[in-house]
Amino acid sequence: MSSVYLCHSEPDLYDFEAEVLEVRPGAVRLSRSALHPGGGGQVADLAGLEHAGGTAQIVGVRVEGDDVWHLLDDPGEPTGLTGTVRVRIDAEHRHRVAQLHTDSHILNALVFDAFDGALVSGAQINGDGTGRMDFDLPNVDNERLRSLEPAVNDIIGNGLTVRAQYVPVAEADTTPGLIRSLSVAPPPTPDGRLRVIEIAGVDRQACGGTHLRDTGESAGFRILKVENKGKHNRRVRFALDLPG
Ligand SMILES: [Zn+2]
Repeated sequence: MSSVYLCHSEPDLYDFEAEVLEVRPGAVRLSRSALHPGGGGQVADLAGLEHAGGTAQIVGVRVEGDDVWHLLDDPGEPTGLTGTVRVRIDAEHRHRVAQLHTDSHILNALVFDAFDGALVSGAQINGDGTGRMDFDLPNVDNERLRSLEPAVNDIIGNGLTVRAQYVPVAEADTTPGLIRSLSVAPPPTPDGRLRVIEIAGVDRQACGGTHLRDTGESAGFRILKVENKGKHNRRVRFALDLPG
């Protein structure tokens, strides 16, 4: 599948129509999709699906080569799922993930600065407002990591602009820190460019996920726990400070 997603070029497209191309038990393939398929540790979008024969829930996305399968809540053979369908993306889910994902960039930038270019060795952004990042950080005091929480919240509070842009792969290769992750770097576009997310004055790194437009749209950020994972890795568990 192309690494350029419709949700990247049209981030506000939450409600769209599409044609059913193919069905199989528990899944449907559509002519277009504005869902983020997940990847790089981020969960996929969720959505409701209305069709002539009724309704269904899209609970996940599976990319198989060039084919994007939307996984349905009912694992059985879909009945009556043909023709034109209407898809409504779960905007709250998308927003929770975008908040946490944007906050993870902020944390990542602070760790990169505080610990001499330390790289991310893994990440997971869940739909429930929790997540974790693993950093390649041998020999550091976990309290130093934990103490970055107020600085993350300062940057959230400052309301900084978050922008997506595309840069040539060659530029990425010569810009230290642009590829920040050891394991989850997104693939370049067919014309050899990389999607880069910039948080004004704070962070600039290649990423294919969903983000806020302004850090001020995020709820507060809490570091729940810092754990040692093997000799090299520190795992930081975090959550959005959501109301209720
Ligand atoms: Zn990102």
